[in-house]
Amino acid sequence: MLKFSGKSVYKGIVLGPAAVLKNNDFQVKRERSEDPEAEIARVEAAAEKAQEQLQKLYDKAVIEVGEASAAIFEVHQMMLEDDDYRDAISSMIRTEQINAEYAVAVTGDNFSEMFANMDDDYMKARAADIKDISNRLVRNLSGQEDVDFSSMEPSIIIADDLSPSETVQMDKSKILAFVTVHGSTNSHTAILARMMNIPALIGVPMNLDEIHTGQTAIVDGFKAEVVFDPTEELCRETQSRMQEEQEKAELLQTLKGKENVTLSGKKINIYANIGSVGDVGYVLENDAGGIGLFRSEFLYLGRNDFPTEEEQFQAYRQVVQTMAGKKVIIRTLDIGADKQADYLNLGNEDNPALGYRAIRICLKQPDIFKTQLRALLRAAAYGNLSIMYPMIISTEEVQQIYSIVDEVECELNDAGIPYKIPEQGIMIETPASVMISDELAEMVDFFSIGTNDLTQYTLAIDRQNEKLDDFYNPHHKAILRMIQMVVDNAHKHGKWAGICGELGADLELTQEFVRMGLDELSVAPSMILKVRKNVREME
Ligand code: PEP
Ligand code: MG
Repeated sequence: MLKFSGKSVYKGIVLGPAAVLKNNDFQVKRERSEDPEAEIARVEAAAEKAQEQLQKLYDKAVIEVGEASAAIFEVHQMMLEDDDYRDAISSMIRTEQINAEYAVAVTGDNFSEMFANMDDDYMKARAADIKDISNRLVRNLSGQEDVDFSSMEPSIIIADDLSPSETVQMDKSKILAFVTVHGSTNSHTAILARMMNIPALIGVPMNLDEIHTGQTAIVDGFKAEVVFDPTEELCRETQSRMQEEQEKAELLQTLKGKENVTLSGKKINIYANIGSVGDVGYVLENDAGGIGLFRSEFLYLGRNDFPTEEEQFQAYRQVVQTMAGKKVIIRTLDIGADKQADYLNLGNEDNPALGYRAIRICLKQPDIFKTQLRALLRAAAYGNLSIMYPMIISTEEVQQIYSIVDEVECELNDAGIPYKIPEQGIMIETPASVMISDELAEMVDFFSIGTNDLTQYTLAIDRQNEKLDDFYNPHHKAILRMIQMVVDNAHKHGKWAGICGELGADLELTQEFVRMGLDELSVAPSMILKVRKNVREME
């Protein structure tokens, strides 16, 4: 039995097999080879295996996301067979008498740089593809298994760390829990775990070489512990605790269809946060009154090029239609900082959280923004859609946004494409926006307070830095006073204000939020009924 403690980001308990995801960015070492032809044969075998893996990914993607999005795996298959790429690898192995892994990694870097420097945007975007292919070959050469989600049984994901682009590619129906060595309680992996209602531990000092896929594990989010190879007695005890949790969850189900109203009759909207079209199932299952935050940037992650207007339109339309008249607030692209996509070429920054991100990218690169706005305005014609802009710091930004929305409206009009101008609100997640919330309230339809970033920027604490988790205190008086100020300024101008950051689901504060006058709390779907219970028990 191997036991480790960490920090729990979502309570729950589960028993199941482990699936170990090894980090792809491990160091490839240059080694001398006495038999270059044997190394070239290893590359051939690794490429053959890669072809099979890509074919499986293509077949799965065609069913799940359609032929257009799946085509990228066909492109990878073709690039893998490209003569220039393969000859460059073989020639390097022969002339420098080196190992296959090193030759593939270096050739991948060289080709990727060559593509990145091309003028043509399509070719530029291939830089990330060639990197992906080379990483896949290196993984195959070094015997690291790609976790194949299509054939995997539901498992506990064990990893060093998980980036948002890795989690977005996972088949959520196969994930029982997350356990990572690194990561912070405010990371998007933690947010995803809360959304999926599964236990998750971070900061667990495991040695991934001692753990293998298939090993039985127990993740206990209440005790913040993970146990590998548990005793039979512990397994039995865990199963009975899982049963108790199941019964508690069933009790909460009786609150479905009930109003979010206090004993004295005050009502509040409880909406859900989502990151993809597939999450709408969780929203309906948990009886949310609407969607208060659709993190649209997840549509941009885990892929090699921008999602097209059509792809985005289909996704947004599907969500508003499925929600059948209930409010759906879609946040425009909030990429940058921890949410990176190679094809955006954002470059390295010393302070990415204070850097080129979110609305700043959209205002500097209006083509990207306009594509998304066209898709949003078109989808708004199909249901109750609202748009929300992230990371606002000034009234000028809101004016600039509105003039871009005007341009998009004119273009859609000229082309005779049906659309609607929806409600438009902003996220309040910078201290600057709090302080000028009286002026901003005159310009927008609503405020949604992003307490994750608001806490980060107010307390000067990087929300991703696991060393600072003890200092990151969203209950800080400064944050609570800011929330009150924002609510009061919104109401002064007849606008509504809600919270869509993780604090909205903090059950210790539900009643205080109602007293403060918040009109909406948007929380992980798994928290909807728990927050409803708190509201209904309040005087
Ligand atoms: C926030 O900052 O509180 C928020 C809701 O946005 P995100 O967590 O996606 O930055
Ligand atoms: Mg934010």
